[in-house]
Amino acid sequence: MAGCILMGLQFQLERSQWLSAETIRALQLRQIERLVAHAYRTVPYYKEAFAAAGVVATESLTPDNWSQVPLLTRESLQEHGDELLSRSIPEEHGQTFEKKTSGSTGRQIVVTDTEGNRLFWQANTLRDHLWHQRNFRGHLAAIRSGRSAKDPLLVKDHQSWGNSTGQIYETGPSTVFYQRMPIWKQAEVLQARNPEYLLAYPGNAVRLADYFRAHALQLPNLREVMTYGESILPETRSACRDAWGVSVSDMYSCEEVGYIALQCPKDDDNYHCQAESVLVEVIDDEGRPCQAGEIGRVVLTVLHNFAMPLIRYENQDYAEVGAPCACGRGLPVIKRILGRKRNMARAVDGRRFWTDLPPEIWSNFIGLEELQLVQDEPDHIELRIVAEQPLNETHESSLTAGLGRALGQPYRFSVRYQHETLRLANGKYERFICQV
Ligand SMILES: [Zn+2]
Repeated sequence: MAGCILMGLQFQLERSQWLSAETIRALQLRQIERLVAHAYRTVPYYKEAFAAAGVVATESLTPDNWSQVPLLTRESLQEHGDELLSRSIPEEHGQTFEKKTSGSTGRQIVVTDTEGNRLFWQANTLRDHLWHQRNFRGHLAAIRSGRSAKDPLLVKDHQSWGNSTGQIYETGPSTVFYQRMPIWKQAEVLQARNPEYLLAYPGNAVRLADYFRAHALQLPNLREVMTYGESILPETRSACRDAWGVSVSDMYSCEEVGYIALQCPKDDDNYHCQAESVLVEVIDDEGRPCQAGEIGRVVLTVLHNFAMPLIRYENQDYAEVGAPCACGRGLPVIKRILGRKRNMARAVDGRRFWTDLPPEIWSNFIGLEELQLVQDEPDHIELRIVAEQPLNETHESSLTAGLGRALGQPYRFSVRYQHETLRLANGKYERFICQV
């Protein structure tokens, strides 16, 4: 039964992706009107927030009055979890369940979701496979965060790819393990399974690719690497191509919301927003929508979660808006996801900017495993390095000089070697962190 509903939804998504951008936007607004009316009627938080902002939920929504709807911050979501719950969830949305996320700062967010909305998550998982024409009979290896796993070394083998795909297609087996497992051990597990597909955090994929290349190992069956969970690093695609001869397809999601955008099957540089399930806005500091080529804050409205409506939720990411895609899909385009505000550098004149650090700067230094830049003073950067052994002085100064040139600022550098990983508690990795 669930499989039939999912199949029906998939059929709708297959058609809706080709609608014009205007039609998609109009359909979204119609759904948002229902969501907003429901939130105003049954969710204490929104009743108050909308009233305070002068938003009348009974009016029809226009782009103008939509921009009056207040943003829901991460802090509000953390603090007002209970008041954000609907007091009357329509029966047809099915059972509810909780999703917990720790976030990079370690503070937990709990989102209540419905079976109805989960269907969209499953349908989007399937859409991603179909877009990229994956062979469902292949072996899928998935490396998850495992931040709350009791045994970080656990390896689980399954007979299918899981619920989203397995309900509809007969699939090959899958293997799941955690990114907290040491790389040599991850490589061992992968070699024993010889998968067709590898799903991993971009940073983890790079470390694996480097390890395979350094040890002249192969994954002869591998067809594609799929990445998720953190902003893709510039070296991810080249590392996977060099080590395994495969391409990478990335997806943009967050735990609170689910899928936000998926890489276009025709154009590696474009992500298509999953407009049937989420309205993605990218806004500037004045709250105006960004145009193609501009970078702004990501604001999300989950269209089908009627248990805990997330309306204009600011997930703290920054993204660049893209132009309409040549593939012909009307789904809105994001060009790249840049991370959080703390990942922006501060110029010595106080201006903030996004860094562009080509991996060629450090890729020639053998044994350099991880590298992170922490701006701890307006003109100073601490370069944190995890390496088999420290670089010699000449290499160190050539590395910092290269980074200084790429940043285009007269920063002073000092180097600190670390033994433990530079990853955050949730397994994510940030190349640049600004503390000033
Ligand atoms: Zn496209």
